[in-house]
Amino acid sequence: MAYQVPLFINGHFVTSASTITQPVINPATQELLAELPMATDTEIEQAVAGAKQAFQSWKETPVPERARLMMRYQALLKEHHDELAELLAKDTGKTFEDAKGDVWRGIEVVEQAANIPAQLMGETVGNVAGGIDTSSYLQPLGVCVGITPFNFPAMIPLWMFPLAVACGNTFILKPSEQVPLTPVRLLELLVKAGIPDGVVQLVHGGQKQVEQLLEHPDTRAISFVGSAAVAQSIYKTGTSHMKRVQCMAGAKNHCVIMPDADKGQALNQLVGASVGAAGQRCMAISVAVFVGQSKAWIPELADKLSTLRPGAWDDTEAAFGPVISKAAKARIVDLIQQGKHEATCLLDGSDCEVESLPDGNWVGPTLFTDVTPEMAIYQQEIFGPVLCCVCVDSLEAAIQLVNRNPYGNGTSIFTRSGGAARKYQHEIEVGQVGINVPIPVPLPFFSFTGWKGSFMGDLHAYGKQAVRFYTETKTITTRWVYNEEEASDQPNLTIH
Ligand code: NAD
Repeated sequence: MAYQVPLFINGHFVTSASTITQPVINPATQELLAELPMATDTEIEQAVAGAKQAFQSWKETPVPERARLMMRYQALLKEHHDELAELLAKDTGKTFEDAKGDVWRGIEVVEQAANIPAQLMGETVGNVAGGIDTSSYLQPLGVCVGITPFNFPAMIPLWMFPLAVACGNTFILKPSEQVPLTPVRLLELLVKAGIPDGVVQLVHGGQKQVEQLLEHPDTRAISFVGSAAVAQSIYKTGTSHMKRVQCMAGAKNHCVIMPDADKGQALNQLVGASVGAAGQRCMAISVAVFVGQSKAWIPELADKLSTLRPGAWDDTEAAFGPVISKAAKARIVDLIQQGKHEATCLLDGSDCEVESLPDGNWVGPTLFTDVTPEMAIYQQEIFGPVLCCVCVDSLEAAIQLVNRNPYGNGTSIFTRSGGAARKYQHEIEVGQVGINVPIPVPLPFFSFTGWKGSFMGDLHAYGKQAVRFYTETKTITTRWVYNEEEASDQPNLTIH
C-alpha cells in the first residue's frame, strides 16, 4: 500500500477516514509517491473547531514568545534545507538547486516573522484633544486559511502561516493536492520548533474542502495563491461570506528589450527567466517585447535556448525539470500546436525526450516569434517553457502592449537609458517591475504586489501588508485626569 499523506489536526498527524484519495505522482517517472486523502466534512470541522479553540490561548501568548518560536523554526528549516529541497525536488520535479531556492525564499519569510514585535507596533498621538491621547494596536483575527498552488510547495505556504501565526492567529493550510509532501515536512519541523497543538492545522482536498473552509462561520481570513479562474471564484465566495480575502492569481509577464540594452546580459537573463523551473513560475517571463532593432537578436536567443534541456532533479546538467502532470503537458503541447498555426515557431519542445526517463512530462524550450495579442499563445498563461516574442517600434508601443494585458504580476526592461527605465517604471500598470533584473520578486520586508488580473484584494502577501492583512486595528482614545487630592489619599506606593 502506498504511503497515505497524513492530516495534521490538533497537534497530531492522523490518517484520514476518507475513502476518496488521489495519487501523488513523481512527474519525472510517474512513480506513485503517495495517496492523498480528500479530507471528510468532519475532519475539516475538527480542524476549524481546534483552531478556534487554540486561538483563545495563542492570542494571549506574549509577542516575543511567538517571535522566539519563529527563530527556532528558522534555524530548523536551515538545518534541514537540503533534505527539504530533495523531498520537494522529487515531488515537483524541480532541479535540486531550484528546489533549494524554493525553500530558501520561504526561510526568508520566517526571518521576517521572527521580527514580529517591531512589525506589530501601532501608532500613537498624544493630546489629540485636551488631556486625551489616542493609540492603536494590531490584534489578531482568529482562524485564518491558506490555499496554495503546486509550483512553490515550500515558499508559498511559508508566505502565509509563519506571519499569520506570529501575529497571533491560528491557521489551516490546504496545500496543492499535487505536491503535499513538502508541506507535511514543514509542519513536522514546526512541531519540533514548539508550536502548540491546534495553532496550525493541515487538511487536504480540492474544491469541496476549500468551499467548506470558505463558507465556515468560524474562519476569518483567506489567503489564496493559484490560477486566475480559481482565484476569482474564491474571492467571490469568500467575500460573499464576509471573509477578508487576498488572492494572488495567474500572470503573463513581459520583458521589454530596448535596442540600447547590453545584449549578452539581456539574452542570458531572458533564457533563465522564461524556461527556468519549466516556466512554472508566476513571475516567469512568457513574453519578450523587442523594441526596434533589438529584434535582430531573436536568432541568437533561439540558439541559446536550444542548448538547454530538461532532466531529473539530481541531473546537474539539466536546466529544468518536467512539467507537473501529464494533463499539464497535454495542455501546453496543445497550445504549442495552436501557436504553430498562428505565429512563427523557432523552437518546438513538444517532442522532448530525456534519456532513461521515458515517462517524464518533458517539454523542451519553445520559442515563437511574430506573436500578436490576438493569438491564444499570447492570451493564455501557458505555464510551460514557452517564450513568445512580440516586436514593436517604440518604447511607447511596448508600454501600451503591456498595459493592455489583463494581468499585472511582474515585468522587466533591459536598457542602458535611465530615461527609458524611468518612463517604463512610472507608466507601466504592473505591480512588480525589474530594471535590468528579469524576475523582480521583492524580498519579504517588501510585499508581493501583483496588480490587475493577477491579484484580488487590498493587502498583498508578506511584508507589512501581510501583517495588516492578518490583524485588526483597535484604536483606543484615553482620558485620564490627575487629581492631586485623590492621589494624596492613596497609600504610599514608593518602590524601595
Ligand atoms: P490552481 O488554481 O489549480 O490550484 C491552486 C489551489 O486551489 C490548490 O490548492 C487547489 O487544490 C485549489 N483549487 C483548485 N480548483 C479549485 C476550485 N475550483 N475551488 C477551490 N479551490 C480549488 O493552481 P495551480 O495549477 O496549483 O498553480 C498554478 C497557478 O498559480 C498559475 O496560474 C500561477 O500563475 C499561479 N501562481 C500565482 C502566484 C502569484 O503570486 N500571483 C504564485 C504562484 C502561482
